[in-house]
Amino acid sequence: MNDATIDQSLSDLVIERVGFGIFVLDRDMNVLMWNRFMQDHSGQPAETVVGKSIFASFPELPRVWLSRKVESVFQLGSFAFSSWEQRPYLFKFDHDRPITGGVDYMQQDCTFMPLTRGREVVAVCVTISDVTHVSVMQREREDALEKLQEYANLDGLTGIANRRFFEGRLRDEFLRWQRYGGEMSVLLFDLDHFKDINDRFGHAVGDTVLRVMAQRVSDAVRIQDTFGRFGGEEFALLLPCTPLADAMLVAEKIRMTIGDTPVEAEGVRVPVTASVGGAAARPGLPSYEVLINEADAALYSAKRQGRNRSVALADA
Ligand code: GH3
Ligand code: MG
Ligand code: MG
Repeated sequence: MNDATIDQSLSDLVIERVGFGIFVLDRDMNVLMWNRFMQDHSGQPAETVVGKSIFASFPELPRVWLSRKVESVFQLGSFAFSSWEQRPYLFKFDHDRPITGGVDYMQQDCTFMPLTRGREVVAVCVTISDVTHVSVMQREREDALEKLQEYANLDGLTGIANRRFFEGRLRDEFLRWQRYGGEMSVLLFDLDHFKDINDRFGHAVGDTVLRVMAQRVSDAVRIQDTFGRFGGEEFALLLPCTPLADAMLVAEKIRMTIGDTPVEAEGVRVPVTASVGGAAARPGLPSYEVLINEADAALYSAKRQGRNRSVALADA
């Protein structure tokens, strides 16, 4: 065997055995060559595909898109590429991943390469790579990131918004209010003598009380409102488009939601009450932090006046 024969049989072998699809099209979209990968995955052997338009064997192919892609390679004489991110697949091939991976068909990257004689493009060679594993990994990563993002916004004990998320919402709402005006109010709640609850019933019961309270209040507030755990046994409620008087009605409703029914935890009934402080945005308010401080001052006043009550900044 001479060198040329070895080269030829080596390239024949590689084209047949390589782990991606290779086929060749002429300018009329007729198939000139079809490798083993294409045969194995399409179920159509070279004998039935070669010599005919590719659309005769695969009528479901995106005809306009594929014809344009191939024609552009004929015209420009340069490579073209299509990634699975733009077009998940060209051929509807099965993949060998478990069905739980979330992809329907083998995800494919395609390259389109000019085959030239002299300066003339005489055919286009198309390769199909199976990138299902990449797409599955990317999807898993995106899902994980989304979950992380979600958990980063939630309080671990109660599952409601944490302080970081609450303050983000408050900042956004404050900016909206500064620009467009209108109303917005903030309520701060603090459970009364919570230290005594921990001391009498234990920390685990204290935790259950916090969870049950958070759930009760979540169920009682409107979807537009943001309810968050501000720290320890302190909660905050942001009420967009709500004047102080209306916010104080909500405060009373929540105070009763908390205080009316004792919490059942580990076989004991724990009576719980809360004090609430409320404040509303008004002209000249320099920052959302000031609004929080004002609600906090009102809350402090509610504690001083004997607890289990709501106090608005104006009366504080
Ligand atoms: P006040 O009526 O003045 O608010 O009295 P208080 O006892 O509620 O106030 P204080 O701030 O002195 O105590 C808050 C208590 O909340 C102390 C702390 O042990 C408890 N606490 C804070 N975070 C948690 C938590 O995640 N779980 C439990 N079980 N207790 C907590
Ligand atoms: Mg307290
Ligand atoms: Mg407190």
